Amino acid sequence: MAESSWLERPGLDKAAGEEFLREAFQVLLDEAVRKGTDVTEKVGETRRPPARWWGGTERGSLPDRGRIPFPPSPQVCDWKEPQELRELLDLELRSSGELPERLLERCRDVIRYSVKTCHPRFFNQLFSGLDHHALAGRLITETLNTSQYTYEIAPVFVLMEEVVLAKLRELVGWSSGDGIFCPGGSISNMYAMNVARFHHFPESRQKGSWALPRLALFTSRESHYSIQKGAAFLGIGTDNVHLVGTDERGKMIPEELEKEIQRVKAEGAKPFFVCATCGTTVLGAFDPLDGIADICQRHGLWFHVDAAWGGSALLSSKHRHLLTGIERADSVAWNPHKMLTVGLQCSAFLLRDTSGLLQRCHGAGATYLFQPDKFYDVTYDTGDKTLQCGRRVDCLKLWLLWKAAGTEGLARRVERAFAYTRYLAKEVKRRDGFQLVLEVAPAIKERMMRKGSMMVGYQPHGARVNFFRQIVTNPTVTKDDLDFFLDEIERLGQDL
Ligand SMILES: *Cc1c(COP(=O)(O)O)cnc(C)c1O
Repeated sequence: MAESSWLERPGLDKAAGEEFLREAFQVLLDEAVRKGTDVTEKVGETRRPPARWWGGTERGSLPDRGRIPFPPSPQVCDWKEPQELRELLDLELRSSGELPERLLERCRDVIRYSVKTCHPRFFNQLFSGLDHHALAGRLITETLNTSQYTYEIAPVFVLMEEVVLAKLRELVGWSSGDGIFCPGGSISNMYAMNVARFHHFPESRQKGSWALPRLALFTSRESHYSIQKGAAFLGIGTDNVHLVGTDERGKMIPEELEKEIQRVKAEGAKPFFVCATCGTTVLGAFDPLDGIADICQRHGLWFHVDAAWGGSALLSSKHRHLLTGIERADSVAWNPHKMLTVGLQCSAFLLRDTSGLLQRCHGAGATYLFQPDKFYDVTYDTGDKTLQCGRRVDCLKLWLLWKAAGTEGLARRVERAFAYTRYLAKEVKRRDGFQLVLEVAPAIKERMMRKGSMMVGYQPHGARVNFFRQIVTNPTVTKDDLDFFLDEIERLGQDL
């Protein structure tokens, strides 16, 4: 075809695209949302999709849908070795495109061989479960495909982010402050270090490390590894991350922090930053914030709280005492995508500062985006506070969930998570022989993956041998799933 003729037509077939999307949504709802979260789906069972999805319209939109046997699939994962999976998926990208039927098959395969992190028997990560309202927010976000940086391109989300961050700050105990949604808790922690360094040494932004003494930062032995990564990334160096001792529960010992600060100072380094953890990654410990805040205050150090995991306990009046003293922090990292089931990613970096520190630390004033002479109030152009240029909208999924559940509903989720964890601890104590089982965790993990019946992570800790790190955040989990979890570990490990 001559160039002049195809330039006159759109490069996309909208009608066919919409039809494909409708069918892809149907696959998504059937395979990922319904089957992916249903413990009654049996391995090898084939089922016709119910008609009630998408508002009770016709059964699917594929004409012969009812005759397509759904391939048998295990529940949580369908383990394949990489070579086999590569062949099953036919990943090769070719010169010509494929028909919609084949593409829908591919969508089905992607879902089939992916891990169902939304399944009630997926306990492998600190995030799990599927909240339908949050998912709606995620789908809308994807569809509108905008960037969070200016009011001009994201008016709704600029206002929404402000409200959600203010609400999170209010739960921390601050009536004012600043913040931003970051791509994950690791990045939120790095922001904290960078802002703290800038706060202590504003010249560092321009002159870099040449202008600075040897910096030192402090965090507990049990803290998240992103603190080390952040120190490396920011040019502080992992040698200058000082790991403070913890007690038998995994909590930082404030006296040890004090000693370490004294020691490092005597060596001529310049302490500037302390990170306390609320909800450590392995043991779920909450550092004693008040004791740590006292020390930070005495030495004039930035006090950051990594509450990526435990921050959501602030929602519950019953459990928020675990974070007493958090209001004294200079900054907080909090991942609603973990305990609140918002979906990856949703990570808030919150600051007590009201002087515009974030903007001064990161702002570059790019004149093609942040023109100061716009026709509206440019204080709504919040994007220059961040390190990113384009930034995903992460507030809508949390906002919509919050609107649906209310603060009370969110608090109930947190309380359920704590209650189930208590139940599980009690059951483990009650069942004989469970300590023994733990020593064979890697073998049990292999068997559970090959069977696909559930997923849970394991690891060693200090002098302890491998154990399973069981996490319950999925609001659809019930006592039955936890009993299944324990029974299944016994079944899988019977002959070991
Ligand atoms: C999960 C977690 C992080 C890292 O958050 P990502 O969003 O995975 O980058 C940091 N700190 C703690 C305590 C965490 O639980």
